[in-house]
Amino acid sequence: RMNTKKITTSSQALDGLLGGGIETRTMTEFFGEFGSGKTQLCHQLSVNVQLPPEKGGLNGKAVYIDTEGTFRWERIEAMAKAVGLDPDTAMNNIYYMRAINSDHQMAIVEDLQELITKEPAIKLVIVDSVTSHFRAEYPGRENLAVRQQKLNKHLHQLVRLAEMYDIATIITNQVMARPDMFYGDPTVAVGGHTLYHVPGIRIQIKKSRGNKRIARVVDAPHLPEGEVVFAITEEGIRD
Ligand code: ADP
Ligand code: MG
Repeated sequence: RMNTKKITTSSQALDGLLGGGIETRTMTEFFGEFGSGKTQLCHQLSVNVQLPPEKGGLNGKAVYIDTEGTFRWERIEAMAKAVGLDPDTAMNNIYYMRAINSDHQMAIVEDLQELITKEPAIKLVIVDSVTSHFRAEYPGRENLAVRQQKLNKHLHQLVRLAEMYDIATIITNQVMARPDMFYGDPTVAVGGHTLYHVPGIRIQIKKSRGNKRIARVVDAPHLPEGEVVFAITEEGIRD
């Protein structure tokens, strides 16, 4: 994987699992049940992309597309302080966008090319969560074809952005603890097959004891198999 750059997660164990961190030119999916830490990871990475390279960042800026209203500036402030960044600067370096429905979410991503051209410091684009609006608006098997078609178009646009502008894209996908309930639906299938024919790295996150979480890379031939443990703390993601 030539010319990719990495953004640290602030967990050495998780970075190790990913071969150094989240990659540019790549779409990374975090999937797992509610409360597994997907949104906390997204907050941490939108701070860490701003770090200098010697601290695991890209001196970059982030776009945070929030579909569920779970973004919190206070978390950015706390995480920025904890890694030695000025909190106000860190908040200014995040373009926050609230997507109110799936059409809006798709339109935001379609317009990003223009923003990124004007602001080449953008090195990270997050969609948290990528699936919630699509599931709410196109529920059930009867809407599966149209949902999957729209979602695939959206995902391919994110992949293309990553490749064209050497940025990292992150999507999150909530998957029930009992995925067998959704057998037959590829957007909610066993293991959460959102990427379904879309290239990228998929990381499953599971709850463990207390603030501990378990991460596992799924279907990535170039990365070693195995699980690592990380923690969600007041300061952010840690070992
Ligand atoms: P998901 O997006 O996967 O549903 P979140 O990223 O929102 O999950 O993770 C929620 C978890 O993060 C909760 O279990 C909570 O304990 C932890 N968390 C959130 N804020 C803080 C904080 N300020 N300090 C410590 N842990 C926190
Ligand atoms: Mg979340």
